[in-house]
Amino acid sequence: MSVLVWIEQMNGQAVASSWEVLGKARQVADDLGAPLVAVAMGADINATAELARQYGADLVLTITSPVLENYRLSAYAAGLRRAIEEVEAVVVLTSATTRGRELSAAVACELEAGLAPDAVDLRVEADKVVAVRAIYSGNILTDVTFDSPVQFASIRPRSFPMPEAGEAVAELQPLDLGVNEDQVAEKVLEVKSTDTGEIGLTDAKIIVSGGRGVAADPVKGFAMVTELAQTLGAAVGASRAAVDAGYIPYRYQVGQTGRTVKPDLYIASGISGAIQHLAGMGSSKVIVAINKDREAPIFERANYGIVGDLYEVLPALTAEFKKRLK
Ligand SMILES: Cc1cc2nc3c(=O)[nH]c(=O)nc-3n(C[C@H](O)[C@H](O)[C@H](O)COP(=O)(O)OP(=O)(O)OC[C@H]3O[C@@H](n4cnc5c(N)ncnc54)[C@H](O)[C@@H]3O)c2cc1C
Repeated sequence: MSVLVWIEQMNGQAVASSWEVLGKARQVADDLGAPLVAVAMGADINATAELARQYGADLVLTITSPVLENYRLSAYAAGLRRAIEEVEAVVVLTSATTRGRELSAAVACELEAGLAPDAVDLRVEADKVVAVRAIYSGNILTDVTFDSPVQFASIRPRSFPMPEAGEAVAELQPLDLGVNEDQVAEKVLEVKSTDTGEIGLTDAKIIVSGGRGVAADPVKGFAMVTELAQTLGAAVGASRAAVDAGYIPYRYQVGQTGRTVKPDLYIASGISGAIQHLAGMGSSKVIVAINKDREAPIFERANYGIVGDLYEVLPALTAEFKKRLK
């Protein structure tokens, strides 16, 4: 019996939220009295496996194969199943990234096991895991318990702090994937990167977002949002109304049907504060709202509110920050 965490990696680098999951899993494993096992999969996973040793795993399973060079569900699902069998995992955790959600769901289905997707907390009660999920746009927290012997959960990024790296004590144990290229139906023909060098929304410590409030001149409005973001070393975000209107691509959307974020500082400009937007950013540490309507609901959630026209407030903030951050 063990607790197993999939350490996701992309372009040879571990995805940071996997370490948050591993850190929490340490506590779950200790409460269950079970060993904590990390599994790293890929064509080259040396760096990731080494880090998994430092972030608290008792054992690190490594599954190395050219078949795993690019993420493909059937190949990665085969690897995860292999790891689950090897260490008789009773709890299987991934980060709730696009891949983590898909992989945990697919393998949980195959094993007819219960899954708590996008969980925000975990605890142990009577030798079973209880996963906490945010529902109804984040207004209610619900406990999910499991009937199945194996319990799966994917964990929303930034739900837990990064663990401290310590001494690498875990053993590395190589495992054979047991699948060759001919057995994988999905073929990757080309990989096109959308990486623009911008700061990613999910891991950003500061986010400056724009909403439909920029409608009078969306190009100018988002240029102002972007300039403030660049001045603060922040990521740019947007409301769904701004995305639906075509002011900015979907990948910037924050909210129930966009990204869930939890930065230290979230600046919402021209965003009314609809419940579906709050679902994605409501747990930010400090929220600053800029809105010309003093009755806008966002002010109920904001720590600081500026009642004003964003076309005046944003450049004024940028100019002031530029002076102070020189
Ligand atoms: C199933 C479902 C899922 C959804 N998912 C999401 C989601 O993931 N993310 C999301 O954001 N929304 C989502 N929505 C949409 C959500 O309900 C709102 O429609 C949306 O968030 C509104 O975006 P907004 O605040 O930019 O626009 P509005 O609600 O139109 O607000 C614009 C605000 O800008 C202010 N304003 C106007 N001009 C200025 C100015 N010059 N200066 C300053 N302020 C100004 C206005 O006072 C107003 O408060 C979802 C809805 C549904 C039904």
